[in-house]
Amino acid sequence: MTSNRTLHTTCAYCGVGCGIQAVVTDAATRQIHIQGDRNHPANFGRLCSKGAALAETLTLHGRLLNPEINGETVSWDAALDLAAETLSATAREHGPESVAFYLSGQLLTEDYYVANKLMKGFIGSANVDTNSRLCMSSSVAGHKRAFGADVVPGCYEDLEQADLIILTGSNTAWCHPILYQRIKAAKQQRPQMKVVVIDPRRTATCDIADLHLPLQPGSDAWLFNGLLAYLARLGALDYEYLEQHTEGFGVAIKAARAAETADIPSVARHCGLKEGEVAAFYDWFRKTPKTVTAYSQGVNQSSSGSDKVNAIINCHLATGRIGQPGMGPLSLTGQPNAMGGREVGGLANQLAAHMDFTSDNVERVGRFWNATRMASQPGLKAVDLFDAVADGRIKAIWIMGTNPVVSMPDADKVAQALSRCENVIISDCIRRTDTTEYANILLPALGWGEKDGTVTNSERRISRQRALLTPPGHAKPDWWIISAVAQRMGFGAAFNYRNSRDIFIEHAALSGFENTPEQTLRAFDISALEILTDAEYDALEPIQWPVNAATPQGAARLFQDGGYYSPSRKALLSPITPQPPRGKLDENYSFALNTGRIRDQWHTMTRTALAPQLNAHISEPYCDMHPQDAERLGFEQNDLVRIRSRHGVMIARAHITDEQAPGQLFVPMHWTAQYSAVGRVGALVNPVTDPYSGQPESKHTPVALERF
Ligand code: SF4
Repeated sequence: MTSNRTLHTTCAYCGVGCGIQAVVTDAATRQIHIQGDRNHPANFGRLCSKGAALAETLTLHGRLLNPEINGETVSWDAALDLAAETLSATAREHGPESVAFYLSGQLLTEDYYVANKLMKGFIGSANVDTNSRLCMSSSVAGHKRAFGADVVPGCYEDLEQADLIILTGSNTAWCHPILYQRIKAAKQQRPQMKVVVIDPRRTATCDIADLHLPLQPGSDAWLFNGLLAYLARLGALDYEYLEQHTEGFGVAIKAARAAETADIPSVARHCGLKEGEVAAFYDWFRKTPKTVTAYSQGVNQSSSGSDKVNAIINCHLATGRIGQPGMGPLSLTGQPNAMGGREVGGLANQLAAHMDFTSDNVERVGRFWNATRMASQPGLKAVDLFDAVADGRIKAIWIMGTNPVVSMPDADKVAQALSRCENVIISDCIRRTDTTEYANILLPALGWGEKDGTVTNSERRISRQRALLTPPGHAKPDWWIISAVAQRMGFGAAFNYRNSRDIFIEHAALSGFENTPEQTLRAFDISALEILTDAEYDALEPIQWPVNAATPQGAARLFQDGGYYSPSRKALLSPITPQPPRGKLDENYSFALNTGRIRDQWHTMTRTALAPQLNAHISEPYCDMHPQDAERLGFEQNDLVRIRSRHGVMIARAHITDEQAPGQLFVPMHWTAQYSAVGRVGALVNPVTDPYSGQPESKHTPVALERF
């Protein structure tokens, strides 16, 4: 590659999906200069601290650059032969269900597509799950239940056009910083815009809040059920919209009018809020048609996360506030390509192109792929999948681009499971992670700045990620590695891709395959992109799906006039019976542990920890606790404390702050054994999950707090 080339790509981190303009100033020494892409509709030139530091993370220090078998460097042929033989032999001897893939929201859509195709169409199992399960699967379940499809109805512009923004379960300022900046700028221009933050913690996001509701952990569904009941009581519903475009209102409102949420005092009691706070929130919602409710992991990471999502969506459907400028529920996705993974079927309970496992769809996708052995039913979701590794039902697992020994709940159990599994294949760009320690076969993958493909952000916008640098060492694209293994397994013709564009157009074609009202009518349809040439794919501008004959330029908003994806084409309001967190506090485990991100680190720090300026923000695991709790236990600021759950233990630095409510703790999710031998919060997290989505309850684990 020559120097001083300018390329447009997207950020490696969160689901905002910011555009980046990168100038390669010295390709040989991997020097690039980064700034926000002024023309990208997600960020219009802005970048947060993480995105702005991406150039500092391109070092080859710590990279996995060669294939390895049991710690010995080998040729690609040797590693691929063994990987293919391992998967084939395991499936042959123990059945397809004995094999699993565990993927990542860091993968590009093309990588995800090929992995899903290999497992679900050729190995014959649906045991393909992803770390996106830990992030947004409750939103997927909620969308499907309400809209008949996994669709985000609106777009980021709505945040600037709204008169009321409700941020619930989202520390937007730290976790989706550019959206926070967009909201903040809009509020400065229009000070009458109101922001309500619903979060047990007083986070940085509260800096722009007109009202902060520090509700009891897990009580969101009471709050939104109460809102629905309040709106009905005051005649503030859109009965015309309800009549024309929805079903289920009767039972939903009956559930919302249950005694616990029938009036404001009851809601306040159940949510641990002041009646005046609840009344102000409800009053603002009632009087403000242009309302956006943006929600994130504080809603999703719950044993009743799907119900919380539907309780929120119910309020928007009942007021007709959806699909119009400045209105709607908006799920903020955590990862850069969690949406792209959803689109190709990267979740174990989806097939491909948002298709469920109906017999028609299994036949349809199998015919499209020329599949040799189609999975016919959903596979195991993340927690169940690693349980199956632990008890030996899964005998071979391929983990791609993720670090479950840190990020999964009950993470010590995951480590034990992998240590007992004889066939652990890992493709990653980092040599030493907590998870690569358990690999028999290590396959070096390209990282950000080297790989080439597409990602989809939280507003359904597909953007290109482009290669800025030549592949280092012997590293290869993930799609190439998966295809090479598939070819060695005897599935060559179906995996004969030249480049990421070949995969993308196949994915686009599948999205539109037999997608008619008579056949399936699926929301995810980018069939207008299946004719892209190499050059057109390379030049693809950011575009929001659906991109088909009806909307060839994409669509910013959906459902303006109904047109949902249920058989009746109506949205469904679900009756929600709020449930408390499954993990109960008791005298031994009397604190509720909450986990989440900090501003300047990403996931398990394999990339962000390479940037000195990012490490300067917060440099070690800490535990937020209220001054009353600290005083009662005799802790001083910066003391080391031990946090213990029924599943594991960790050590952290006490951070005493009244931003944390009494009886509650917050610990960041990032630190790994690489950086802090005893700082993995995942080891503590309760592995209970939502019954619909399978998403773990990472926001509420009963723990004990002790002096170290
Ligand atoms: Fe990257 Fe998210 Fe920051 Fe944008 S907001 S620069 S996508 S980390």
